[in-house]
Amino acid sequence: MSKEDLVLVAGAGGFIGGHLVSALRAEGFENIRAVDQKPLADWYQSFDDVESHVLDLKDRDACRVAAKDAAIVYNLAADMGGMGFIELNKAACMLSVLINTHLLLAAEETGSERFFFASSACVYNAEKQKDPKVTALKEEDAYPALPEDGYGWEKLFSERMCRHFREDFGLETRIARYHNVYGPHGTYDGGREKAPAAICRKVVAAKLSGRHEIEIWGDGNQTRSFMYIDDCVKGTQMILNSGYADPINLGSSELVSINQLVDVVEQIAGVKLKRTYNPSAPRGVNGRNSDNTLIQRVFHWEPSTRLRDGMEKTYRWIYDQISGSVSVGASASGSLGL
Ligand code: NAD
Repeated sequence: MSKEDLVLVAGAGGFIGGHLVSALRAEGFENIRAVDQKPLADWYQSFDDVESHVLDLKDRDACRVAAKDAAIVYNLAADMGGMGFIELNKAACMLSVLINTHLLLAAEETGSERFFFASSACVYNAEKQKDPKVTALKEEDAYPALPEDGYGWEKLFSERMCRHFREDFGLETRIARYHNVYGPHGTYDGGREKAPAAICRKVVAAKLSGRHEIEIWGDGNQTRSFMYIDDCVKGTQMILNSGYADPINLGSSELVSINQLVDVVEQIAGVKLKRTYNPSAPRGVNGRNSDNTLIQRVFHWEPSTRLRDGMEKTYRWIYDQISGSVSVGASASGSLGL
């Protein structure tokens, strides 16, 4: 890929897309096209020197406009959120299939060289995620298929679609299965937020209000790994530029329980909170971790930002957002169970 190539980032107004545009700019890419359906004012990051469009990419013609002459297409656009969102919006999540399908068609039509699809650990067979002391998920554990209902099925189907566009039409598709990504400039309230941001927000609210309590979804023993955004962006670009075309895990292998994640944020904030548990809230699978054998073998690399370090930056950013606004008390609920 050359620095003069036109690069499309779909979903650029979102968390990961915004960071990817920022990284591409910093690396000297001169022709970046950023597209999202949100009004520009709602994008987490936007840049005056980047060609930015507001388009609904479920629409095929919108995808044609977005992808026109793009050498590289990154598809980071999806209707998604934490467990609280995806368990209650299965049809909406599945409709993201239109985004990927129409973007693939448009990329093929315009003659793009490479196409990246952001898949998810939610493609993995639920039977393999019942134990909180989970053995990490290897790429082959996606089959036989029993993914997360709605969101995970869309991701698995779209992975497959990418593979067949490569095999049948020669479009070079690349696929990463992201495992929980976190960091600044992402959703931390409103119902789509994920556990790290939700916990930061709740701890900030407790600190600012003086009510030293926190509600945790589930029993807090469910386990996950969390990848810091810088590792996600670096891995995404490595995979895009590589010859490795099958789906590959992109996640941290530092497994923690939700209770341990709360411990980390309490330490960063310098508070100790009384914990209450909400067993009826959405909590997701019991345990999920990324097996990084393949990414280490192919790239001699894996995401390695320590959770404590990444959460420190995330907490500071969310603290600044909330302490600069007035909506602290209104944001006492949210998705802890991914
Ligand atoms: P995000 O919600 O912050 O960003 C997604 C963006 O897509 C949003 O800005 C949204 O407005 C945009 N979008 C949705 N529908 C659209 C449409 N029809 N047309 C144009 N834009 C549309 O989410 P994110 O965390 O940045 O996730 C990026 C990608 O990575 C998604 O595909 C997501 O499924 C995947 N992923 C993320 C995580 C994670 O932990 N964040 C984990 C696994 C996979």
